[in-house]
Amino acid sequence: MTTTDSERPSDFIRDAIKEDLRTNRFGGRMHTRFPPEPNGYLHIGHAKAICITFGMAEEFGGLYNLRFDDTNPVKEEAEYVEAIKEDIRWLGFDWGDREFYASDYFEQLYQWAVQLIKDGKAYVDSLSPEEIKEYRGAFGKPGRNSPYRDRSVEENLDLFQRMRAGEFEEGEHVLRAKIDMQSGNMNLRDPVVYRILHATHHRTGDEWCIYPMYDWAHGQCDSIEGITHSLCSLEYEDHRPLYDWFLDQLGIYHPQQIEFARLDLNYTVLSKRYLLRLVNEGHVNGWDDPRMPTLSGLRRRGYTPEAIRSFCDRIGVAKTDSVVDIALLEHCVREDLNQRAPRVFGVLRPLKVVLVNYPEDLVEEMECVVNPEDASMGTRKVPFSRVLYIEQDDFREDPLQKWFRLAPGREVRLRYAYYIKCVDVVKDEQDQVIELHCTYDPETRGGWAPDGRKVKGTLHWVSANHSLDAEVRLYDRLFLVENPLDVAEGEDFTANLNPNSLEVLTSCRVEPSLVGAAPGSIYQFERQGYFCVDPDSTDEKLVFNRTVSLRDTWAKIEEMQKGN
Ligand code: ATP
Ligand code: MG
Repeated sequence: MTTTDSERPSDFIRDAIKEDLRTNRFGGRMHTRFPPEPNGYLHIGHAKAICITFGMAEEFGGLYNLRFDDTNPVKEEAEYVEAIKEDIRWLGFDWGDREFYASDYFEQLYQWAVQLIKDGKAYVDSLSPEEIKEYRGAFGKPGRNSPYRDRSVEENLDLFQRMRAGEFEEGEHVLRAKIDMQSGNMNLRDPVVYRILHATHHRTGDEWCIYPMYDWAHGQCDSIEGITHSLCSLEYEDHRPLYDWFLDQLGIYHPQQIEFARLDLNYTVLSKRYLLRLVNEGHVNGWDDPRMPTLSGLRRRGYTPEAIRSFCDRIGVAKTDSVVDIALLEHCVREDLNQRAPRVFGVLRPLKVVLVNYPEDLVEEMECVVNPEDASMGTRKVPFSRVLYIEQDDFREDPLQKWFRLAPGREVRLRYAYYIKCVDVVKDEQDQVIELHCTYDPETRGGWAPDGRKVKGTLHWVSANHSLDAEVRLYDRLFLVENPLDVAEGEDFTANLNPNSLEVLTSCRVEPSLVGAAPGSIYQFERQGYFCVDPDSTDEKLVFNRTVSLRDTWAKIEEMQKGN
């Protein structure tokens, strides 16, 4: 369930915003932005950042911008821009007409660089990239000034203008801010602000062959847009002094940056670099593979925006990094789907059952509850007939002591239907059980015995003739270990991939009410879990993704912690 604002505990970001609103710091304004780089699809970590940046603006009656940080033409594509927008809309946020691109500001950013040069605060460096790295020193090891650091303003202006005009090769020159090569903060050791890239940009085409570095663009874009609170993840904390330095030198409007911890989830990776490799190397079937932690993958899997937002609410805002248990995310999904998913019967591994005393031609319509959590969803009719399918797992020829399901001579309830008793077992030449013969008790219609006779097991079922063909894709964790990036020397994170993360069942049977079920609709297959119709689904064959099973390990952990 989503926490309402009044019951949501405060945190250091909310406190800071409240204080700024109280003191009228930004003229009472509150304006945030989410700045994705269009070089991959959004993942659940981005969802956290979006819920914080956009969510807080909504909470405090402010505005929020979507700004694409498209400063690196080499890795960026228009496809990613569209996918990112779709994912954010799906999460439930609407940025109105406030969609911006860092590339909209390229001219302004260039002019500001010229201003910095004129003020003697930037210079064109002609060291090679390797030399620049070497001269920078390292943590605890001072940097050295470049021999080009003291070029005259005129020479710098001329070179920078010619860089823009395309007179040089990539790597020949860069523009650097002139700050402090001895700074304890590596970001302040004369950072590069412009580099030459003879690359076509997805929006500006070939207009530019020099591109601003992210650090040069970021703070100034926030300033241009009048952002009040630049909320971002912790890795930018060390960059804040640099952003402040740029804004101060340029003498322009100054947003307040506040950092929060990134989301890290166990059993998966949350970095576009690694996700891109999974896609490109074919370890998964694309960015929207239901095993991916991407929003498009989770959507295809059947995770709802409500569940993801509730998850982001529950993990809250923290200042220190920690790893979140993926079981909590799954718990939030179950909690949401339990409320809204219609119940249906789906048999994953069918075992044929013939009711030997049931009339050949009779078909009864059994009335079944759609969702016991929500009476307003009413009931549905499920056809019942002489030949049925049940789950192979629900039968054992040699039952253990505590076996309450079907076995030779045992009686169970078929949910919303009848009591049945197994009277015969049919096997093939390999001694595999292929069919059961059972009797049904006509007195037990609806699943209750008038004589008060009790059975311990209740099974789901479908009618053989009426049920529909379905494929079901079962997913397990994508990685075998909690931290996939923790690898032995010489090994790669792909060594930790779970080879059994996908199991495809092709001969499943589902109740006929699912005919024509639209991709994206989510159901609870009773006793099995939640299942979402995949876009691959056709009229001939329904295709489902298992969203989550019903077993909630997180709820168990919570109970244990409460001492139950
Ligand atoms: P990646 O590490 O996946 O490449 P990124 O940070 O480079 O991610 P961006 O497109 O720059 O990707 O992300 C946009 C914003 O999303 C960033 O400003 C960052 O603050 C935030 N973000 C990215 N990953 C996470 C995460 N795991 N948890 C919280 N916020 C994140
Ligand atoms: Mg980034």
